[in-house]
Amino acid sequence: MANFETPALREYPVIPIVQEGAMAHSSPFVAKPEHQQPLGFPGQLVENWEQKAVDRLGELVSKSRALRVFLDSCVKCGACTDKCHYYLGTSDPKNMPVARQDLLRSVYRRYYTFAGRVVPWLVGARDMTKEVLDEWYSYFHQCSQCRRCSVYCPYGIDTAEISMAARDIMNTVGLGQKYSNEIIGKLQKIGNNLGLPEPALADTLEGLEEDVKLETGVDVKFPLDVKGAEILLITPSADFFAEPHIDGLVGYAKVFHAAGVSWTLSSYASEAANFSMFIGSHSNLRKVALRIRKAALELGVKRIVVGECGHAWRVAYSFWNTLIGPFDFLDPNYPVPQHICEFTYDLIRKGALKFDKSQNDDKVVTFHDSCNVARASRMGDMPGGQFVIPREVIKATCNHYVDMAPETIGEGTFCCGGGGGLLTDDLMELRVKGAMPRMQALKEVVDEHGVTHIAAICAICKAQFTKVLPYYKFPMDMIQSVHGLVSKAIVLGPANE
Ligand code: SF4
Ligand code: SF4
Repeated sequence: MANFETPALREYPVIPIVQEGAMAHSSPFVAKPEHQQPLGFPGQLVENWEQKAVDRLGELVSKSRALRVFLDSCVKCGACTDKCHYYLGTSDPKNMPVARQDLLRSVYRRYYTFAGRVVPWLVGARDMTKEVLDEWYSYFHQCSQCRRCSVYCPYGIDTAEISMAARDIMNTVGLGQKYSNEIIGKLQKIGNNLGLPEPALADTLEGLEEDVKLETGVDVKFPLDVKGAEILLITPSADFFAEPHIDGLVGYAKVFHAAGVSWTLSSYASEAANFSMFIGSHSNLRKVALRIRKAALELGVKRIVVGECGHAWRVAYSFWNTLIGPFDFLDPNYPVPQHICEFTYDLIRKGALKFDKSQNDDKVVTFHDSCNVARASRMGDMPGGQFVIPREVIKATCNHYVDMAPETIGEGTFCCGGGGGLLTDDLMELRVKGAMPRMQALKEVVDEHGVTHIAAICAICKAQFTKVLPYYKFPMDMIQSVHGLVSKAIVLGPANE
């Protein structure tokens, strides 16, 4: 365990007393030139970077009216101050959303407002200096872009957008984050975040077919690069690799099998994640997403289904249409894209799946709403479907289900603490401390209702919980994939063989 103190979980949530600079030391590893250049960024801090950063900020506010409004409209009401899990977990006042925004706002004011140019000291305007840049690098990598603060802001100011803009500026002048940029580079070169080449992927899928055959006696397929399949499954590469993710992939395959639909994975687009969103890079976002369009066209599929990944679902649901659409080559009778939970839920509603819920009787399950699904997308054809559908899928497969406190789920869900490109070991202290509010809510249902497992539909949440649960004295295997629960309970009878 690392060299910091894990926050205590109290009986009731407590707003911490401010500790100035408590997390000033927290900064992720800086990207090297080999991580920067393939993404179209300078390898290191460029000459005259101060002016270039200011110019880039100007470009961003002239292109995005939303960003300009967010920077112009804060009235310092304070409603957001206690809403960020990183402030609640670290006590550092710069992790209050309004303070985080002010890191960028102060520079915006200095160069792009009349008052900031004339009387900067009166309006909190600051010059673009190395000290400011260092502060940006530290604190804009203490924001998981979860958007919780925007729910409580009377003006709807979205700190995630501000954080993305700041990271875009930093990348533009040559100061990128190693973790995110290295991953985006791997995806662009090999097709997935893990850097898993096609033969290794094919091998993994073959192994899974054998495992499922042994477990169930049924020939459930895990097809790869099958032309003419009906469905292309786009899923996070974590699903090919480790528990609990891989249990989810087995669950998807069993559902497709039971539904009798043909499906395939693509070795060219073997990744749902798109970390380009975290660094605010539109060009990389598009480049990564285009692989999926290209794979769908080459394989000649009729539908695209997206596996359990939070930010990937945001990119797919909210951006794909304008980013890589139109999808006029897909079957218009189905949603484009469709979430795997939506797919499974439709079958449940039609009575097309059979479950033996007693297979999950060793569990009392709760559900963690992932930020990008909860606050940045929807699911299905009903308002709030992103909250209803995953829960209905869990309840169809488990006899014992309990929700966490209402203010910590749904639209007000607390981030797992590892989203937004922060799921890296060099930010472990931040991740553990930022997970505190979620762990607090989890502890309540563990103590009061005997909850044994927490399910999620996001690869980052699952990986983050696997790491941080033990810090809070919970077992690491408490975290489950929703389709891992489906996999356990689904009955693949003779009709499905
Ligand atoms: S977006 Fe989330 S992580 Fe960022 S400041 Fe708001 S609440 Fe905190
Ligand atoms: S809630 Fe909104 S308006 Fe109020 S201080 Fe926070 S960002 Fe500013």
